[in-house]
Formats: sequence, C-alpha cells, structure tokens
Amino acid sequence: MADPIGEIALAAAALDRVHAAAGPYLASLADRPVLDPAAAKLLPELGGSLPDDGAGGAETVERLLRVGTAAATTSSGPRFFHFVTGGVTPAALAADWTASLLDQNAFARVSSSFAHETETVVLDWLRDLFGLPRGWGGALVASATFANFTSLGCATHWWGARHGRDTVGQGLTGMPRMPVLSGGYVHASARKALQMLGHGRDSVEVYGDGRADVGAMRRRLAELNAPAVIIGNAGEVNAGDFDPIGELADLAEEFGAWLHVDGAFGLFAALSPRTRHLTDGIDRADSIAADGHKWLNVPYESGFALVKDTARLGAAFGMPGAAYLPGPGDPSGGYALYGPESSRRARALPIWATLSAYGRNGYRQMVERHLDLAQHLARRVDEAPELERLADVPLCIVCFRARPAGVPEEALDELNRRIGAALIEDGRVYAGTTVYDGRVALRPAIVNWRTTESDIDVFVEVVRELTRRAV
Ligand SMILES: *Cc1c(COP(=O)(O)O)cnc(C)c1O
Repeated sequence: MADPIGEIALAAAALDRVHAAAGPYLASLADRPVLDPAAAKLLPELGGSLPDDGAGGAETVERLLRVGTAAATTSSGPRFFHFVTGGVTPAALAADWTASLLDQNAFARVSSSFAHETETVVLDWLRDLFGLPRGWGGALVASATFANFTSLGCATHWWGARHGRDTVGQGLTGMPRMPVLSGGYVHASARKALQMLGHGRDSVEVYGDGRADVGAMRRRLAELNAPAVIIGNAGEVNAGDFDPIGELADLAEEFGAWLHVDGAFGLFAALSPRTRHLTDGIDRADSIAADGHKWLNVPYESGFALVKDTARLGAAFGMPGAAYLPGPGDPSGGYALYGPESSRRARALPIWATLSAYGRNGYRQMVERHLDLAQHLARRVDEAPELERLADVPLCIVCFRARPAGVPEEALDELNRRIGAALIEDGRVYAGTTVYDGRVALRPAIVNWRTTESDIDVFVEVVRELTRRAV
C-alpha cells in the first residue's frame, strides 16, 4: 500500500476494527490490572524502521489494537487512583470518536460553525453546572495547565493595562515584576503557566505552608500598594483541601487585585450541597481554571478557562494582523482568538454529549458517590491497625501511610516509598506517593465514573498485602 488515495472506498474498514475491539476492551476494564507487567514486551512490535511501503489502514490498525489493548495503562478503569485521573463516560467516548470522524477545526465560525456553536452551548452549560454567571467568557483548552495559562495570560494583560502598557503588543521588557501571591497549595502547573508567560515560575510569593495565610497576604498587598494577582486553590492534590476562596475574593476586592482560582478538579465540589460551601465566593473570582479530563470523565485533552471579563480573552489571545485570518471582533472569528491554540479539535463534542446524556443530576450523583467512596476508604484505613490516615477527607482524596507496629518513625518514609513502588510494580491497582506534612504518604484520588466500593476494597487489600511484604 502506498498513496492513501487507494483506500478511499475502504475508509471505514479501519474504524470497523476499532469498533470490534471496543466492546471486549471496555468489558475488560472492570477486572483488568492497571498494568500487566508482561505487556511491556509487546511494545517493540511498534518499533522498527519507517516502512517504505505501508501495510494499509485496516491491517495497521489491527496491529495497533493488538499491542494497545494489551499494553495500555488501564487509567480509564475503576482502579487507577494515581494523580487525579478520570475515565471516559460512554457518551463522551462516542462523541470523541465523532469529533475525529468529523475532523472539525474549532478555530473559528468560518472553519466550523457547528464546532463553534457547540462550544458556545458547552461553555454556557459548564457555567450553569458550577453556578457561575452566564455573562462570563471562556474557552475550551487542552488541560488545566492551559487553563491556568489562559487565565494568567488574561491577568497579565490586565496587569499591564493597569501600568499603562499593552503587554500583548509590547511584551514585559522594562516592567517591574508582576506580583503573584498564593498559598502553599499552589499547583506546579500554575507556576509552569507563569514560566511560559515570561514571569518566571519563581515569581509566586507563597503565604502559608498549606492553606493560604490571608492575614500575611493582606499585609503584603498593603505594602505593595500596586496591582497584583492572587491565585486561590480550590482542591489541592495531596488531600483535597481548599483555600478560603471567599476570603481571597474579599482581599482581591479590597486591594483591586486579580483573583484566579485553580479548580482543576475541586470546582466539582460545587455540584453537591454537601461540598458546595468549599467553593463559596468563587463567582467573585476574575478567572477559573478547571479540567474536563478529570472529574468530568471526558477523554484527554480537555480543560476549560472561565474569565469574568469576556473582552479580556480576546485582548490577550487575539491574533490581529494576518490578512487571511479573521481578526478580533470579526463575526467569522471564534474561540481560537480566546485562547492559546489556533487550529484545535472540536473538544466541545464529548463535553456536550456527556452533559446531555447524564445531566446535572447525573453528575451530582456521581460526585456524591465519589465523596461516599472517599469516606469509605478513610474508614477502611482507620480500621486497619497498620495504616494511618494523615489528613481529613473533605473531597475525593485520602492521604495516608503505612505505619506497622514495631517500625521506628525514622524508617517510615523509606518503607512507604517502597510500598508506593511495589504498588506500581504489582499493577493490580495504582496510587501515587507524595510528601504530606513532611511524611511520605499515599494519596489515592477517586474521580472515575466506574469506581465502586468493591474497587476501593480491592485497593485496601492490595495495600495491606504489600505492606506486610515490605516490612
Ligand atoms: C491536575 C491539576 C492541574 C493540571 O492539570 P492538567 O490537566 O494535567 O494540565 C492543575 N491544577 C490542579 C489543582 C490539578 O489537580
């Protein structure tokens, strides 16, 4: 097989192979190990040199599926508790295939009014879902890192304007450093966004070891007496704790600062009356970053930025001056002028489908099931004599460590590191380690729509078994 033109009549044949593999693969997710250590030996099958003549679409996809369905990390399954990792709802998965089938460029209305209008609907629905005003602007982006980038890009433009500078045209040269204040929960990706924006990742001034120290921030803002950016953290990654968002909003109002909230997964606390108070005040932020590919359970790559002042998005991310492209304000323009990417896939489709399919109540029920599962896990940890919980469980993360009788305190960090490594090597369930309050700990996060109580019980049993073996 050479020129793909030869496959025009067979264009759907390769897709048929994917469809045939999908049923068995999805059915296997409930019991598959997260990673089968033996599968690594299959990976070289995709290597070798670039073929001169190809094998054709269907045969090639068959080969990819054979290796992929065996060697993939089962991160979309119910027992992957590492990082904060969602799966893919049935509606979202089918709509993601649809996005590939239609291959829209969600650059602008003129490239796809279908993708553009769907994105508009989806952004309205997301604002509704989280109780935010419809008048806010927004854009779908690839991830929460890009959502932090988009939000802090808007903040940068705002800050420059306060100094009489158009940073989009002129850059930052010759300006003072943009003050950025946050608490100890500030996520590495917010720092990365600041690094990409030219502020430097070390530009963050941190007040508080964990939760933001609002008093210290107030003193600093009074001393600065200049426009500043505050980053609030709604859901930190080690134990799911929150900064006092309302108090940060008060502070931002008092000092005329820009409040950005990183709610990558924590924003979903707003879906349940049981946890909504954790996000109180978030509607007073200037920008919010969140993920779709975590708790919304849509495929990678999916995140979104919501920005109170819609015009700021266009000002910070428009691309005036290319004669063949729509400029800012041009009715044929669109979301590429509101975010960092230019050509982009129709990532609104899976979000639209999952929200259509399960609605506000479905998402609330799923979130509450995860809240219950986190409490169940916390109880199981508390009941196990050799396990020690290290933090409260306000949301969906349980931070704990192994502490078997007879092991001295100074040996516990090393023991827990070994248990963390053994868990990954074992592959039945996954969770990652962190350092919490100076102690090495496990921090399983529960955000996959498939996870049930029996998956949590398997997790606890595997951790206990590996702890016994590690001592
Ligand atoms: C996961 C996460 C991010 C980064 O999200 P990506 O989608 O991986 O870019 C940012 N902030 C918080 C709090 C997160 O949990």
